[in-house]
Amino acid sequence: MHILAVVGAGTMGRGIAQLAAQRGLEVQLYDPNPSALESARRALHDIFVMLADKGRLETSVELVERRLHYRQTLEPLAEADWVIEAAPERLELKQDLFAALDRATPKALLATNTSTLSVTRIAAATSRPGDVIGLHFFNPAPLMKLVEVIPGLETRPGVVDRALALVDGLGKTPVVAKDRPGFVVNRVARPFYGEALRLAAEGVEVETIDAIMRGLGFRMGPFELIDLIGLDINLAATKSVYEAFFHEPRYRPHPLQQAMVDAGRLGRKSGQGFYDYTQSHDVSPVKPKATGEPPATLIIGGTPLADELRARFPTVERPLDADLVLDARINPQEKLHARLAEELPVVTLLWGHSASAVTRGYRRGVAGFSLVPPIEEDTLVELYLPLSGLDDALEPARTFFEGNGIATVTLPDQPGGGGGGGGGGGGGGGGGLASGSSPCSSTRRSAP
Ligand code: NAD
Repeated sequence: MHILAVVGAGTMGRGIAQLAAQRGLEVQLYDPNPSALESARRALHDIFVMLADKGRLETSVELVERRLHYRQTLEPLAEADWVIEAAPERLELKQDLFAALDRATPKALLATNTSTLSVTRIAAATSRPGDVIGLHFFNPAPLMKLVEVIPGLETRPGVVDRALALVDGLGKTPVVAKDRPGFVVNRVARPFYGEALRLAAEGVEVETIDAIMRGLGFRMGPFELIDLIGLDINLAATKSVYEAFFHEPRYRPHPLQQAMVDAGRLGRKSGQGFYDYTQSHDVSPVKPKATGEPPATLIIGGTPLADELRARFPTVERPLDADLVLDARINPQEKLHARLAEELPVVTLLWGHSASAVTRGYRRGVAGFSLVPPIEEDTLVELYLPLSGLDDALEPARTFFEGNGIATVTLPDQPGGGGGGGGGGGGGGGGGLASGSSPCSSTRRSAP
């Protein structure tokens, strides 16, 4: 295979074109919109220069740019061996486009980079559905290893083999997925965005949600990721999966997404999404605040989290020596009958229940906490104050974690917490970063 046509020069099309040109293919990059072509040409030039400066371009900028041809009509694509389409996520548009590509590129196998639409339905618009397949690259295409390979109902087995070879030749890892709405990745990702949007609409700040999810090990939080993908693309994917599953509530789009799109806040590509990209600054993890000595803490419970906390932090063994009890047990029933002998403030692990639900089991003030092991540098502990009872446990709890080098955020009491805690995360109002510096806008290239 020598000639690849990439159709659509937006976020994905230009990424796939870059990747292919760097791998030595001749690339015809088509877009009906001249400003999209010009913007792709400029962006790719800057990337190639940057890569060359860093010694990460295997050839010269001139040579790699000579492999890229920017086209505003379909005629020059006639000799292509493969087409990868990366136009907007609308079934009708893709069907019209594939009908045109069927005629314009008679020798080519045709691939769609759709995130959620039926490959079979797109293929049905052509006279040769056996030649059509889904090749779902991820953003940013040059960096992300995975490509979902999605045969439609009519795709010929030989085309699957050739698609696997193409993806392999581009240095990616192909995984064959079934032609179902959202395939695998986008289906699994829907609740990641959906629940985060619900929390944000209930008042928890997007910076807080992103920082918690990064602390759990995700490379990016849901809002950083939506900004990278594009709000319009993310909304279109959400709507498409929702429709395809006959309005399954778990996939319901959120009005906040629609409002952002209506306002033109499309994320990085428009300069403004959930974050402002007109000024560049790096994501900084929330750092623990300087505090005094952590209180002498007795840890109860035999959970892996209790073991990890005991192993990492100085603790005491006898209630007599303690200023704070950390109850790392999971079962709320055990907590309701805790009957601790000493009158000590308690910070109790929330796992599918709220702090308010267990306060009456203790004899002093209670704070809830949520933390999923392993504890890493970016880990954020969520703290919760119950709706009633004494509030004398929150400060010692905060001092315990921050004094031991783990940042905290204080959130409205809720079952399951925002990020960890086993539950789905219901969410209350008015959450915010109660600690340390704000994890400000993201401009790094990354992916989950
Ligand atoms: P985008 O909005 O950045 O770019 C789309 C491009 O298509 C634009 O340049 C537009 O001018 C062009 N276009 C419009 N009509 C066209 C037509 N009739 N023929 C050819 N080009 C046309 O969109 P994107 O983010 O690059 O997404 C493209 C596809 O890739 C969608 O199907 C999307 O679901 C999928 N996808 C997106 C991501 C992501 O993170 N953005 C990830 C994986 C897959």
